Amino acid sequence: MLVPNIDPHALAAELSGYHLIDGALVPASSGERFNVLNPATGDPMGYAAAGDAADVEVAVESASRAQKVWAAKTARERGKLVAECGRLLEQHVEELGRLVALESGKALRTESRVEASVLADAFIYFGGLASELKGETIPYNNTSMTMTVREPVGVVGAIIPWNVPMYLMALKVAPALVAGNAVVVKSAEEAPLCCLRVCQLLNQILPPGLFNILSGDGPTCGGPLAAHKDIAKITFTGSVETGRIIHRAAAEKLVPVTLELGGKSPMVIMGDADLERAVDGAVTGMRFTRQGQSCTAASRILVHRSLHDEFIERLSARVDAMRIGDPLDEATDIGTIVSPNQFERVAYYLEKARETAGANIRECSALPTDPKLSKGLFVRPVILSGVTNQHQVCQEEIFGPVTCVIPFDTYEEAIHIANDTEYALAATIWTRDLSTAMRGVNELHAGFVQVNQNVVVQPMLPYGGFKSSGIGKEASLDSMLEHFTHRKTVIINMG
Ligand code: ADP
Repeated sequence: MLVPNIDPHALAAELSGYHLIDGALVPASSGERFNVLNPATGDPMGYAAAGDAADVEVAVESASRAQKVWAAKTARERGKLVAECGRLLEQHVEELGRLVALESGKALRTESRVEASVLADAFIYFGGLASELKGETIPYNNTSMTMTVREPVGVVGAIIPWNVPMYLMALKVAPALVAGNAVVVKSAEEAPLCCLRVCQLLNQILPPGLFNILSGDGPTCGGPLAAHKDIAKITFTGSVETGRIIHRAAAEKLVPVTLELGGKSPMVIMGDADLERAVDGAVTGMRFTRQGQSCTAASRILVHRSLHDEFIERLSARVDAMRIGDPLDEATDIGTIVSPNQFERVAYYLEKARETAGANIRECSALPTDPKLSKGLFVRPVILSGVTNQHQVCQEEIFGPVTCVIPFDTYEEAIHIANDTEYALAATIWTRDLSTAMRGVNELHAGFVQVNQNVVVQPMLPYGGFKSSGIGKEASLDSMLEHFTHRKTVIINMG
């Protein structure tokens, strides 16, 4: 058994340059590789195999073989092994937390260690759901026994992002495996090594080929995976533009697809809200500790005009007290942006705000002064006000630590602004009035609505959006049943 290695630099060196196919670490068939950046220093922290169609071919072929044997096990046997994967991951929380912190720049204490724990929890949760792979009986007539049974879809292709890479991978891999499928994952270019480590650990428990992982660039490696004829289901988390490409690839083959895409999630603070709780909720909801790199980030905060100025003062004071610094330092609340591309994207939107008459850009907290971090991708969190909901910064997903605060006068106006977006992923409403809360729950158009709280997504809570935010729910029993099984109708004539 592999023992935890809590030196992320040493672990990254060990894992550099490989895919994991058929139970073994293997380099890219082309021999190509690419650097993985440490965003806190700007230096490479390792490198990854640059996969292409040839690697996809080998990985899918191995997965197809493994799937047939796996599907022949009973559901409970599969579930037990998947739950055991979760317990193994629990022993590696510190190791995985440190590796993802180094690779993605997310602070260890506030984000990365939390991700590693919830990753383990997802495998334990789905492992326990194996006996729920049930069909139903149908009262069709009295001369037959009519039922539905659930069968695995086959080999699942999973394409994942970098912001919560291990956990978002788990939400696909764990239910797919329990349902009797094999999975080939394509990791994100910015965070391949932490996911490779998870795969390596789980391959100590799972049969070879059942869970393969490839690293590489989106079009060169993810493209052939999505298009592969033996991939019977594609599950994707990422940007809207890539989601459309994936959806087209699925349409070509007529296979089902799950898409978890972007958001521009509103947080509505009514005039009677408990302001202090709402400020806490804004800090969590906006994921300031993750530099706002979350599709559910409360990136539009609609505040009743009577509370607007005070809310901004209190939120700024709260964020000012947070410490930006080395992601691996326990004292750090906020780490870095993940990549130079994302860094430029945030700068672009801030420039757009600066060019706008009346915009008020409140930059909070302070950049680190340690010379070792001088090339790090640190950005001060921004509370932006004085822009309307029609502004580009309020309509497009920035995926950085920028939240827009917009005043409103009436409930109707608030709901109108909240729903006036191409996205429909998450929303919250803050009020002490029960009927306002219930109206908000009904009228906010989003897949995940909360009242007077802003918790992050957890196993068992169905998660996913409408409109450009995607198709399908993850993280729950229905995600396993709907996304990773086929339903077969069976009629047994008893006459
Ligand atoms: P982001 O802009 O946040 O990186 P992307 O949607 O580009 O979001 O990336 C999410 C995942 O999709 C990554 O694993 C990436 O490599 C992959 N990807 C990007 N482009 C394609 C593509 N054309 N085909 C398949 N996968 C892709």
